[in-house]
Amino acid sequence: MTADRAFHGISARLVAGALLVGAAPFVHGATIVIQNANAAGVGFNDGSAPQAGAGCNAGETLGQCRLRVFNQAAAQWGTLLVSNVTITVSAQMIAQTCDASGAVLGSAGPTSAHSNFANAPRTGVAYVQALANSYAGTDLGASADLNANFNILIDSGCSAGTVGWWYGTDPAVTVPDDRIPLLPVVFHEIGHGLGFTALYNTATGAASTGANPPIWGFYLYDTETDKLWKDMTNAERVASAINDPDLVWAGPLTSSWSSAYLGSAAKAIVNTPPGIAGIYEAQTGEFGPSVINARTGDVVLVNDGSGTPSDGCETPFANAAAVAGKIALIDRGICAFTVKVKNAQLNGAIGVLVGNNTAGLPPMGGNDATITIPSLGITQALATSIKANLPGTNVTLGTDPGGALSGTTDGCVRMFGPNPLQSGSSVSHFHSDALPNLLMEPALNRSIFNRIDLTLPLFRDIGWRMNPENILFRESFDANPCQHVQP
Ligand SMILES: [Zn+2]
Repeated sequence: MTADRAFHGISARLVAGALLVGAAPFVHGATIVIQNANAAGVGFNDGSAPQAGAGCNAGETLGQCRLRVFNQAAAQWGTLLVSNVTITVSAQMIAQTCDASGAVLGSAGPTSAHSNFANAPRTGVAYVQALANSYAGTDLGASADLNANFNILIDSGCSAGTVGWWYGTDPAVTVPDDRIPLLPVVFHEIGHGLGFTALYNTATGAASTGANPPIWGFYLYDTETDKLWKDMTNAERVASAINDPDLVWAGPLTSSWSSAYLGSAAKAIVNTPPGIAGIYEAQTGEFGPSVINARTGDVVLVNDGSGTPSDGCETPFANAAAVAGKIALIDRGICAFTVKVKNAQLNGAIGVLVGNNTAGLPPMGGNDATITIPSLGITQALATSIKANLPGTNVTLGTDPGGALSGTTDGCVRMFGPNPLQSGSSVSHFHSDALPNLLMEPALNRSIFNRIDLTLPLFRDIGWRMNPENILFRESFDANPCQHVQP
């Protein structure tokens, strides 16, 4: 079982259209307004007192506390983008999926897309409403620009190991381990509604915007077929949506800014024995310390003395003395990744490798602030090789400074393209391999709070103009590493 918490599934109701209206002068920044879509007494209108320890201010009702977080996220987004048309977000807190397999935290999308409006950056190309409005200088649709839903069940403790949302907004205050911070989730979902969304039906490959392709298709690129999504057939797009790791973003600004936000990729480096020595792909945990500070040690296969003894689900370990001071090797399955790693820590391990029980790398989701040792997920094949060479295998949990930036392919920032398709998440997120983690990955990472990182250059790629009084107004940052960059 993983403890993944997906941000959402994105949704969009789309109306393609064209209006011709005169342009208006720029303002600095944009005004983003939250429209309270909750019914009386529910969500933002809940008049009860907040739970103690939820990060609310003295005197606030629960509803007021929730709305304050949304207004802060809206205000921060508004300082970054340029539009003189007010951006409206219709938001509510309602019940969404939450069970033992994971929780949907929120979902959001643009309410419509528009083409061939006044001052459109490209002809015959569809843009989400808030972005289109910023060029047209007028509101192209009567409805709100974004719809956003957030899971109210989180406050009922529906997600394992948590008691509710964290409504604090001060990044200097540590988020309690048993709470899920709402602020980064609102940032993320507003990001989708402002344009971080493909507007393609990933099941059929068809554009959701009709005859005019979405701007996303001018930068979403497949490095295997060497095609942009706008130039593919529907069948080619269906194949490309699951063509990990070849699905990338070929926008010039995102590419040139990638080295400012991404570090070297995490790797499992086998030092000895020579027969299996090498640098192997690895998945970082969403919990525990980063492997940027490398940890080296001999590997010991865990024996927890119960059931499948290598699953590490029980503690103390039968071989605790052998594990102490070493890198623990544990097999995926039966219990959460955080339980395995915490158990290894309790038995004295200095790091953990979790061997997958299926193809690829294990997702390593979950959170536990009491975990202080690093962990990496490795392939089943590597775990099998290591087991065949015990004792005598020495491994470094670290990064490969000589290798490519994490979360990139051919120097281009990788997009989320898992096989099988994850409807609602595939294609409309950065890849979860990015290190440090990015706001627009498909699942919330505890390291994200109010940082909008590479999303801003991507927004610049799709046409958003940035407020020069703040950040990211330079049109380039570094030599562009993407081998497929598009104008
Ligand atoms: Zn998302």
